[in-house]
Amino acid sequence: MNQPPKAKLYIEGRYLKHTRDLPQTVFFCPVCKGHHRRRHGCKRCDGFGKLTKDSVQELVGWVIAKAAGTRKHKFHGAGREDVDVRMLGEGRPFVFELQAPKVTNLDLADLEATINSRNEGRMEVRGLHWTQKTRIAFLKEGKFVKDYRARVAVSTLPDLEAAQALVGERYVVAQKTPSRVAHRRADLVRERWIELLAVEPAEEREGDESPHIYVTMRTQAGTYVKEAISGEDGMTEPSVAARLGIPDARCVELDVMAILDEESPAQEDSADRDSAGGGAAESVEGTPAARSPKPSPLIVEPPSAFGAGL
Ligand SMILES: [Zn+2]
Repeated sequence: MNQPPKAKLYIEGRYLKHTRDLPQTVFFCPVCKGHHRRRHGCKRCDGFGKLTKDSVQELVGWVIAKAAGTRKHKFHGAGREDVDVRMLGEGRPFVFELQAPKVTNLDLADLEATINSRNEGRMEVRGLHWTQKTRIAFLKEGKFVKDYRARVAVSTLPDLEAAQALVGERYVVAQKTPSRVAHRRADLVRERWIELLAVEPAEEREGDESPHIYVTMRTQAGTYVKEAISGEDGMTEPSVAARLGIPDARCVELDVMAILDEESPAQEDSADRDSAGGGAAESVEGTPAARSPKPSPLIVEPPSAFGAGL
């Protein structure tokens, strides 16, 4: 072997998260930061260094990085959902970066099967394949449209028939920075578009103190979905509650159903749906070469031409 070892390898795929207790990346303790000495005696994490026992990154890393003979890896997701939000549908694209691997002839299909059998019912990965570094910026900076399904507590049920008339109509919301992220985001008003895709009655569950509905919606990248539903005391206007003509609505469970392609001016239906003013005229960012030419593709499919050779 008269060759230097490859410093980094990149593996792309999509992950699904079936539970509400799994962060995307390692959830270090905010007090001790997981530091190997400072964490001893840390009251916040009881010396564990982390606030959850695992994460999507670790569940992937414990299989792939181990097979590659390294402990160093990074996880680059196409955005991320909150810990308590499930990632369903076709999953969320990610790039798993292996640093200083000692073994490089990995059987990705085999590793994928191992990850999935170990984590059945919690998470799964799909379509693992070799990729290249440029995909990280594309996935991390892409302005992807997303579909969500929310279980929503309401004090009174909306008129479900009238709600059908709202389905498919794109409207624009003005969102002030939510209180839950105000400490790390600039305080300003953002305009985002939303489309309701379905409004349905929800099944009753034990302990329910009010009726519930399911709201399925498509949202522009960067929409604060939980706040868009409740309105958060006027911080988002109009709220889904207001659109449905009910006094209140509170998101109690949220699932991401689809990560769709980036917005583009050529997006289907945008011309007639966008009369409320906004979305479609925005400039398009991202990597032109990597963007799909299709007007409204289902999901960010990685180019298939990347071989293992890099
Ligand atoms: Zn700690």
